[in-house]
Amino acid sequence: MVKSAPDRHQEIRDAVRALCAQFPDSYHREIDAQRAYPEAIVDALTAAGWLAALIPHEYGGSGLGLAEASVVMEEVNRSGGNAGACHGQMYNMGTLLRHGSEVQKRFYLPKIASGEWRLQSMGVTEPTSGTDTTKIRTTATRRGDRWVVNGQKVWISRIQHSDWMILLARTTPLAEVKKKTEGMSIFMVDLRAAEQSGMAVRPIANMVNHETNELFFENLELPAENLIGEEGQGFRYILDGLNAERTLIASECIGDGRWFIDRVTAYAGERVVFGRPIGQNQGVQFPIAEAFIEVEAADLMRFKACALFDAHEPCGTEANLAKYLAAKASWQAAGACLQFHGGFGFAHEYDVERKFRETRLYQVAPISTNLILSYVAEHVLGLPRSF
Ligand SMILES: Cc1cc2nc3c(=O)[nH]c(=O)nc-3n(C[C@H](O)[C@H](O)[C@H](O)COP(=O)(O)OP(=O)(O)OC[C@H]3O[C@@H](n4cnc5c(N)ncnc54)[C@H](O)[C@@H]3O)c2cc1C
Repeated sequence: MVKSAPDRHQEIRDAVRALCAQFPDSYHREIDAQRAYPEAIVDALTAAGWLAALIPHEYGGSGLGLAEASVVMEEVNRSGGNAGACHGQMYNMGTLLRHGSEVQKRFYLPKIASGEWRLQSMGVTEPTSGTDTTKIRTTATRRGDRWVVNGQKVWISRIQHSDWMILLARTTPLAEVKKKTEGMSIFMVDLRAAEQSGMAVRPIANMVNHETNELFFENLELPAENLIGEEGQGFRYILDGLNAERTLIASECIGDGRWFIDRVTAYAGERVVFGRPIGQNQGVQFPIAEAFIEVEAADLMRFKACALFDAHEPCGTEANLAKYLAAKASWQAAGACLQFHGGFGFAHEYDVERKFRETRLYQVAPISTNLILSYVAEHVLGLPRSF
């Protein structure tokens, strides 16, 4: 393994590494080939309490900070796995924790912490509105003691491996609100019950082994008590949760980046062509060195975002910057790793092509690189709004 500076999370790193070592490359490769869900590693991470890192002790979780949680996710990806299969379990509950009532927290969080319930899914994106979330068309209308949901979502991950989903829906029409960000609310959806009445699921085959789906709602009824927080404030609640999500995904990219650098450094040192290791050529060394530098820089921004988050300080800028830098760095490392494996980079048995596909997602989801640039231009630099 290529050395990075020792940090204060070494104990967590060692424990997660030891757990992940039980799941070698061949495990992840087979799961990918079968397009299966990595149940065994998700179960092991759950049983060890790692996915409950951010749930406070009083609700049965580990009560750790975002910095520690981010190291867990980083190590899963650095081991060759893909935390994307289960990262939702770590951060989706944040919305409930911050905005749910005490009764809701006592009802959901202990079971999420123990793994009895999975809250792996969050339904925001829609086919027509895309990134322009305030234009969502899924509605929830109050009828007596129920909310009735109609509409459609797309790209909603882990539905088939989750018990609950957090759903964003419009509760006041766009034309009737003062600000376009108002009038949306969030709900807890019991997925198995919903599938029996009013929610249809269509899996989307895609480039990575990532279980994601289109959802169709036709008069899906939700109990009134499934509303989280105040009606009409859902967009703000979802935004609140994004800083943790972006920082955790940045840490997964850092884990990927380190995995690529470990692999390509080892390979370039051993592969002999023209009578010397390919890694002796500066044309090979420099892109790897550059990727290493970028991963290390992203790592600093990740920990800066974590420190602010854990101190309950605003961290939107740092979370976005960390996600941007880390996704870019892991993609650069992926390119160098694939390139310098030559033809072997394309062979499944080297695992490079799989990780290459997996890390590419983070240029687009959960927020595209362009939208981060737009955030920085408008909210950090104060340039005129473009939308
Ligand atoms: C595998 C996968 C899993 C996902 N899981 C979930 C999930 O669990 N829950 C969920 O709610 N969503 C999920 N998503 C959706 C994801 O968050 C969106 O795909 C992403 O936010 C981009 O939205 P879009 O696909 O509608 O792209 P669009 O909004 O159509 O944008 C397409 C591209 O255009 C560019 N673009 C758009 N607007 C602008 C602009 N104003 N300025 C500059 N460039 C712009 C960007 O580069 C963007 O990538 C997932 C997506 C994928 C692929």
